[in-house]
Parts: sequence; C-alpha cells; structure tokens
Amino acid sequence: MKILVANLGSTSFKYRLFDLGDPGEPMLARGAVDRIGGPSSKVVYASSKGKTEADRAVPDHGEAVRLCLEQLTNPATGVIGSASEVSAIGFKAVHAKGISGVQRVDARLLSAMEAFNDVTPAHNPPYVRAMRMLAERFPEMPLVAAFETGFHATIPDRNRRYAVPNEWATEHGVLRWGFHGASHRFIAERTALLLNRPDLRLISCHLGGSSSLCAIRDGKSVATSMGMSPQSGLLQNNRVGDFDPFALPAVMRATGMRFEEALAILANRSGLLGICGKNDLRDVEAAAETGEADAQLALDMYVSSIRHYLGAYLVELGDTDAIVFTAGIGENSPRIRSMVCRDLERLGILLNDELNEAGHGERKISAADSKVEVWVMPTNEEIIVARQARDLLSARS
Ligand code: ADP
Repeated sequence: MKILVANLGSTSFKYRLFDLGDPGEPMLARGAVDRIGGPSSKVVYASSKGKTEADRAVPDHGEAVRLCLEQLTNPATGVIGSASEVSAIGFKAVHAKGISGVQRVDARLLSAMEAFNDVTPAHNPPYVRAMRMLAERFPEMPLVAAFETGFHATIPDRNRRYAVPNEWATEHGVLRWGFHGASHRFIAERTALLLNRPDLRLISCHLGGSSSLCAIRDGKSVATSMGMSPQSGLLQNNRVGDFDPFALPAVMRATGMRFEEALAILANRSGLLGICGKNDLRDVEAAAETGEADAQLALDMYVSSIRHYLGAYLVELGDTDAIVFTAGIGENSPRIRSMVCRDLERLGILLNDELNEAGHGERKISAADSKVEVWVMPTNEEIIVARQARDLLSARS
C-alpha cells in the first residue's frame, strides 16, 4: 500500500511517498512546492531515479498536488505507474474541536477544525483550505487526518485538566490536548526498539521551531508541556510559551491594544524573537557567542523552560530510563543539550561530552556510568502518519 504524506503550510506543500507494502517501509520519493499563489514557485522532486527542479506559477494547493502526482508518475523519474496506486493522502493535522486520533477527512471534520481556527491560527486555516480543495479536486482519493493530539489521549485527567469550571472542559474542550504527537510517538516506538524494552520510562524532548517535552510510560503519553494550544509550554522561536493571562489587561489598558493584537504578539512576536530579536536558534547562539546579553538571556530562558518540564517529568515517571533529544534544535545543538543536562549527575544524568559534540544522527550521548541513557534521535513524523493512514484504511476494508 502506497501512502502520500502531505505537510501543508499556508503557501507551501511538501510530500513524501511511502511503500508500506514493503516490510522496510521505504520512502519512494519526496518533493516540495513553495510560494504557492505567488508569481513563481520552486517545484522540487527527488526519487531514487533522479531529481528535478523547476520554477513555475502554482496558483493553489490543488495544482501543487496535481504536479506531485505528475512527477510521481513521470516515465523517467517517477516511481508509480498511475495515480490510482496511491491509496491515500495522509495529513499531519493539528487540532479539531471534539475530534482527535486518525480520521477520514469529511465535512464534519473540516467544520471541527474550523471551530478551532483561533486556537491554532497558524495551522488550521491553511490545512482546512487545502483539504477542502483536494477533496473537491480528487474526490476518489481517500484523505486521512492524523491529529497531533491523538498520542496524548492517554494522559490522565490529573495532568490533562486545567483547574477551570468543569463545563469549560466538558463543553468547550478546554484541556491540555498536547501536540507533536507523531514525533513523540515515533520517539517512543524507536527507543523501545533500540533499548529492546516495551516498558520504558522516557522523556522525549522535541526541540525545533516549536518545542515540547513529553513524559512517556510503557509507550503511552502521561504528560506533555503544550496545552490547549501549541502556544503554551516551553517558550518557542516566536511564541510565548507558558504565560499568565492576567498580564493582558495591564498591557491592553496601558496601550489601548485590542485582544486580537495582544494574542498575535504572544503568538508571533514573543519567544526567542521577543527576547532578543532573533528567532532562529543558530542566530541566537551566534549572537550569544559575541557577547550579546539579550541573546544569552534568550538561550538561558529557553533552557530553563526545558529543565522546568524535565524536572517535573523525572518526578512524574519516578525512575526514568532515557531522555531523547529530537527535531532541528534537539538533533543539531550540542550546546543546548549540554546546557539542559548540566549538573544533573545526582539525578543519574551524565553526558559524554565527546559523543555530544561529535557524531551525527541517531546515537547515545550519555556517559557509560549515566543511570539515565541520553540519546539524539532524528524523528520521522511522516512515517507515523503513513502507518496511521494505512491502519485506518485497513480497518475499514
Ligand atoms: P519546525 O518546527 O519548523 O519543523 P525544525 O524541527 O526543523 O522546526 O527546527 C528548526 C529549528 O532548528 C530552528 O530554530 C533552527 O535554528 C534550529 N536548528 C537547525 N539546525 C541547527 C543547528 N545546527 N544548531 C542549532 N540549531 C539548529
């Protein structure tokens, strides 16, 4: 069974095609279209048979998917005979009111996503627009949404509920839903395989453009740092992270700012960007090295927020077997990993500095006598979505 996994941005479309009929689950091809709707898009494609790159106008996501299918079936570099070989398009969807897990995309699901447009403003609107267009343009193609919140359905109420009136939770869905579910699920499954133990207590640290920690016991999420929306938890590249909502009236009263403007600042102009004016961690690290105090403060605050949840989850799990760093920052910044693990020997966490600094890709970076194993592990959210789409379709047939 071949599954196309789509990653949508408001003006971008990235995809990977997996063959899940093959036990090795190979990725057959990948590609991307950027600047959709603009005068010229870069359309890139790569498979074992070759690569192509072209500049052309791509007016909308429907056209981007049509180009993708054209490339996948191209006699020279394509990997399938016809588009009908693609069993489904799987989407790493973010949030919907009253819906989680893995679901076929239909009118009810799209309305449920729209109902949370203002909870996840950067993610839901472009996904809903593109999914609706694809459903109209490719009515024969099953579309499957695998929600990021699905992995966190196992979080017990004591960690899932906010201390708000019950009806906020039951009627309005005001809960700690958690996100990055595909990534944390991948890390849980991969670590259990590598350590050859299904009963692991593990802390998954997904540190990237947006970041979250997840406490995982026996393969199940028991707590995570993001909440009702992906805005909360750790501070992010340009998002605030945990914040006291009672600070808002003070700023709004003093400046005349509207509620929507204040929310937009918390969602787009806060985090690392708000503290030091840079939102790419590589730029923040470089500026801190030249002695910029704001950049150093941003790094220190980011690491403090990671250690805050790390400490909470070490206590939550009781006896942690492994800590795993993943995503753009987790995989590529030895400095952040070293700052996070500093002075934690008494808690059984000790890095091997050489392994942390050198090396590449999946590897253990803890010292031989560290009680808790520390790993760097590239995540693979797309294969999780492909497997979930396959499982849904197989269960129905
Ligand atoms: P997204 O959430 O957008 O998918 P990624 O997981 O790709 O994000 O992570 C993006 C982040 O990773 C950026 O902040 C970038 O600065 C950071 N990053 C990438 N490479 C490095 C590196 N070599 N050192 C430090 N940070 C890095």
